Amino acid sequence: MGVVVQKYGGSSVASPEKIKNVAKRVVQEKEKGNSVIVVVSAMGDTTDELLALAKQISKNPPAREMDMLLSTGEQISISLLAMAIKEFDYPVISLTGQQVGILTDSSHTKAKILKINIDRLKKELENDQIVIVAGFQGVNEFNDITTLGRGGSDTTAVAIAAAINADRCEIYTDVDGVYTADPRIVIDAKKLKEVTYDEMLEMASLGAQVLQPRAVECAKQYGVIIHVRSSFSYEEGTAVKEACEMEKERLVSGVTCDLNTAKIAILEVPDRPGIAYKIFSALAKANINVDMIIQSIMRDNVNDISFTISESDADLALEITKGVADEIGAKGVKFSKDVAKVSIVGAGMVNNPGVAATMFETLAEEGINIQMITTSEIKISCLIDASSAIKAVKALHKKFNLS
Ligand code: ADP
Ligand code: ASP
Ligand code: MG
Repeated sequence: MGVVVQKYGGSSVASPEKIKNVAKRVVQEKEKGNSVIVVVSAMGDTTDELLALAKQISKNPPAREMDMLLSTGEQISISLLAMAIKEFDYPVISLTGQQVGILTDSSHTKAKILKINIDRLKKELENDQIVIVAGFQGVNEFNDITTLGRGGSDTTAVAIAAAINADRCEIYTDVDGVYTADPRIVIDAKKLKEVTYDEMLEMASLGAQVLQPRAVECAKQYGVIIHVRSSFSYEEGTAVKEACEMEKERLVSGVTCDLNTAKIAILEVPDRPGIAYKIFSALAKANINVDMIIQSIMRDNVNDISFTISESDADLALEITKGVADEIGAKGVKFSKDVAKVSIVGAGMVNNPGVAATMFETLAEEGINIQMITTSEIKISCLIDASSAIKAVKALHKKFNLS
């Protein structure tokens, strides 16, 4: 007997039939004699639909009200799942983020969990209840509803597993594990039995949406092993953990692609100390994450600075950058949303020179131009034209023999 946290994503609860299927699986877990906490996302595309609804009302909706709106999606699915479990005649209770004691900071729409007060959770489990928790939401110190960023229910699940010291943390989705590439893009992608936190963190941050990066960070910090599995099968899935047997033998573990990226270039920036600070501190103040950065070599006391941000931050980032560019006397600002970041990730890359060259060779063979490059010990990313992204992923997957 132990405590099991299961998380079911939007695709797993997209219809009444699917909710009933989840209820059945939850009951099966309870039948094994475990205490069960279930974290759920909003049904299907509900969150996207709510976002679209807000855009019809306002071009720039206040973030606090956005959270008030977006959090309703999860409230629908927790109540329906609780009803479905009740049909099996099991004791069950649904709880919102606030009721479950999830305290976050105040960065609306991308809040971070600060603390979870597990008293209520413990009490309900002691009363033998199956507890259904709304993913993706919490409250800040003022008791205002916050949300944790897209895909945030994964983080809710891992954070709860860590807080309650669960024996198992399972993330159920519409694929039966983490693959060497998005199985929707690369048909012969292979399922990984295991993947390290570091590899998964890179893959998730670089576009493998199967897990939210924050969830992997949290799992690594608290040593929570994540089991990624399908809610439509009983396959074993992928374990995300500290170290893997295969890790060092595997040069490249996965190929990812991120289309949610945009590029801004500031042209002819005066070359003097403090300029980069000025640009990037203005973006940081607006809570905008900057990803790749390139500064060209100085010519005639000016240089160009280019960087990428996520597409959802692009409009605000452009406005801020234009303001700073004017202030510092740069020549102008260029902007593009038609870019994608393709990356290869692998712990075995560290001691193997030549991996980067092979990546660049592959893109060259496909006639794909590289606009920016970044590397870390276990990943190489290239910014390319968005229209070539799928071709690039397929070619890299083949070149590194991942099938
Ligand atoms: P959920 O609604 O369950 O949270 P998501 O849509 O957020 O599901 O994540 C699952 C999707 O992630 C899959 O359908 C798959 O297309 C995509 N995906 C991208 N990269 C990978 C990968 N490397 N391995 C598995 N799935 C991936
Ligand atoms: N419903 C939220 C989203 O679509 C959170 C999640 O699914 O994890 O991003
Ligand atoms: Mg998800």
